[in-house]
Amino acid sequence: MASDLKPTLREIEEASERIEGIAWRTPLLPASRHDTGTLLKLECLQRNGSFKIRGAWNRMSRTKAEERDRGFVTVSAGNHGQAVAWCARHLGSKCTVWVPDDAVEKKVKAMEAMGAMVQRMPEVEIMNSMTDDRWQKARETYIHPFGDRYVIAGQGTVGLEIIQDFPQVKTVIVPVGGGGLISGIGTAIKSTKPDVKIYGVQAELAAPIIRSFKSGRPERIESGKTFADGVAADRVFSYMWPIMQEVMDGALAVSEEEMRAAIRHLANEVHVVAEGAGSAALAAAWKYSSQLDKPVACIVSGGNIDNVVLSNILSQKE
Ligand SMILES: *Cc1c(COP(=O)(O)O)cnc(C)c1O
Repeated sequence: MASDLKPTLREIEEASERIEGIAWRTPLLPASRHDTGTLLKLECLQRNGSFKIRGAWNRMSRTKAEERDRGFVTVSAGNHGQAVAWCARHLGSKCTVWVPDDAVEKKVKAMEAMGAMVQRMPEVEIMNSMTDDRWQKARETYIHPFGDRYVIAGQGTVGLEIIQDFPQVKTVIVPVGGGGLISGIGTAIKSTKPDVKIYGVQAELAAPIIRSFKSGRPERIESGKTFADGVAADRVFSYMWPIMQEVMDGALAVSEEEMRAAIRHLANEVHVVAEGAGSAALAAAWKYSSQLDKPVACIVSGGNIDNVVLSNILSQKE
């Protein structure tokens, strides 16, 4: 694993130019009519329904013809796989996506609809494979979901857009899975506005960042099953920790119910659909409101939620 994963600000700016016309510039809107101190960066409206296209395109558009000819391979709970599948098709290449056994069916179908070959493996094996070089040895060109300098630079473009659209921002809350999104956003924001606070959020049921932040080193935990599959994690990866530790001011955790309430609010008041991971930052902004410097920007990182799960959440009483 490359030890030098942290992109420069210049590399993130360059990624912004590179993704133009591929990723969309998403809106930054108030979370409600009454609360103008909380803003939402709506990556749930991004192409393919999550921010992942930013990093995937920034990485994949740099490949040489022979790498493209070999096709691409990746591992993903679903959103990174969709982005890689889209980019592969756009580049005229094939791709294979390894997903966990229990991946959200809608995400799998979307990958297949874009021509990806989907393969399944147990989730824990996927997690384990991210610490060895098994994928790097694959015949195809491997696109890491977070541990890649160009992927991180691509995700960092979300941070640049927030600073451009809302320079008054004091706090940014970012959902954390492998840590590529927060590493990119944190690098972009801290190198232009070092006083802006960056918080990571995970589901209480699977929150290794809380433990890691307390101990000061990357920890592995016994994690439970959260419906927020985009941030489900059982560890902080040691190769991500140096950047995460450098850019993060704190780690937050929200319950399943707090995320469900945020999904209802986003649907009813903002008229957007968020998946579990996409709702976590808003849930955290409410929960920790008294401790946060305002205004706060929340990354609504994705909207690919199962229809039945969504309808259950929406029909539930507040
Ligand atoms: C991938 C993903 C995340 C987490 O991003 P990392 O770079 O893995 O930390 C958060 N939310 C959604 C919707 C995602 O797809």
